[in-house]
Amino acid sequence: MKERYILALDQGTTSSRAILFNKSGVIIGLKQIPFTQIFPKPGWVEHDPEEIWSTQLAAARGAIEAAQVEADQIEAIGITNQRETAVVWEKATGKPVYNAIVWQCRRSAEICTELRALGLSDMVREKTGLVLDPYFSGTKLMWLFNEVPGLRSRAERGELLFGTVDSWLIYKLTGRHLTDPTNASRTLLFNIKEGRWDEDLLKVLKIPAPILPKVAPSSGEFGLSSKEIFGTEIPVTGCAGDQQAALFGHACFEPGAAKNTYGTGCFTLVNTGSEPVASKHNLLTTVAWDLGKGYTYALEGSVFIAGAVIQWLRDQMGLLADSAESERLARSVEDAGEVFLVPAFVGMGAPYWDSEVRGTAVGITRGTTRAHFVRAALESIAYQSRDLLDAMEKDFGSRIPYIKADGGASANSFLMQFQADVLDRDVILPEVGEITALGAAYLAGLATGYWASQAEVEQNWRRKRQFAPEMADEKRDRLLASWAKAVETARTYK
Ligand code: ADP
Repeated sequence: MKERYILALDQGTTSSRAILFNKSGVIIGLKQIPFTQIFPKPGWVEHDPEEIWSTQLAAARGAIEAAQVEADQIEAIGITNQRETAVVWEKATGKPVYNAIVWQCRRSAEICTELRALGLSDMVREKTGLVLDPYFSGTKLMWLFNEVPGLRSRAERGELLFGTVDSWLIYKLTGRHLTDPTNASRTLLFNIKEGRWDEDLLKVLKIPAPILPKVAPSSGEFGLSSKEIFGTEIPVTGCAGDQQAALFGHACFEPGAAKNTYGTGCFTLVNTGSEPVASKHNLLTTVAWDLGKGYTYALEGSVFIAGAVIQWLRDQMGLLADSAESERLARSVEDAGEVFLVPAFVGMGAPYWDSEVRGTAVGITRGTTRAHFVRAALESIAYQSRDLLDAMEKDFGSRIPYIKADGGASANSFLMQFQADVLDRDVILPEVGEITALGAAYLAGLATGYWASQAEVEQNWRRKRQFAPEMADEKRDRLLASWAKAVETARTYK
């Protein structure tokens, strides 16, 4: 019998990717296709939903071709996606009525201010685990209904469908209108405790209920892809937002298991088990996954500027020829020479949530070199992640024993070692780089029995490298105290 594979569709913010995995979780074929970023006004970001679909489809076909397999060897499809991005399309034609409003888009900032002024923040946090911020889909949808003539009445008549990108792809693949709880939990409309769209929230945000997708388990049946797409029907059986998929891909199945993705920013998630944990430290409470046996929850926090500080040093400051040079330079000096860089270029995320603070460097002397500065930039990624983890532990109530790492900047071994040192716990890198796509594949393959159990998936998890803390406590304490002072300095200067 021919070998069978799982196809993961990883629909990201700047590119659509598709990856075929085999049973050992090894990549058999991969294709990545970038697509257009639309910036109609400062602070606004859109994507063309048709382009999202066409690039995703081309990536899927490309991955199958690269792997040199037949479509009928694909057991199932798992979807993972950029989260919170909102798409509205016509039920009758499947045509989008507006561009996708991307998670980064700030156009609903005013709406959020108004909702906060109405005193709705506590109710929103209580029901959704989120904060009233334009980041989430709900106020993007509200903006569309307020600004596009006729849209609300069409939605009320049941002529329109709304979805995050997962729903859009499922609809294009299968014709069904579905989402999963990880994506629903990022809309501001979903009650994460009761597992349903929340009538009070729909009323407050004036969202007509007929527009919403049905919420199905993250691992389960989403329908069959129609025959003309791949030449054969393939079941879609996995779906999760990108950060939750990464948590799953890392096999963070037990409460306290945590991952940090080091990309443009950092996204840290910790599995909190079957109970949602309310945050007292500005973290988000979110659904980690639903395997059809009740929800698993997570606490989530993000650092806005992580790998982006290295991009900035390279592209704006001209201090680096390429990202990898940052590691060589950091290693060329013994320490950062007492320099601390707080890269608060767009304010600071959890636990600070300070949108006014800006980038600050302290401790510069006549002896400071490019190497010191670059090292301070890398170290700032680790310090910010440490602050996040401290907040998480306080909310979670017990020690988070280790961190599993992925993302572009996790390729930097200096950073990973320094992270282990300042966290005072192990940082573990997986063998498979594409952990987000792997998570979606696992969700899909568990639903069909391709993988028998989570235990089997866990055995698949192979470490590439483990960084153990080597720094003396006294030194760590001293560095963390200086970092705290640097952050304080940045926040006082406004
Ligand atoms: P995203 O998915 O957010 O676009 P990636 O996971 O592709 O990000 O990671 C890209 C980021 O990682 C960039 O910001 C880049 O500066 C950073 N990066 C890549 N390689 C390195 C490296 N060797 N050292 C430090 N940062 C790096």
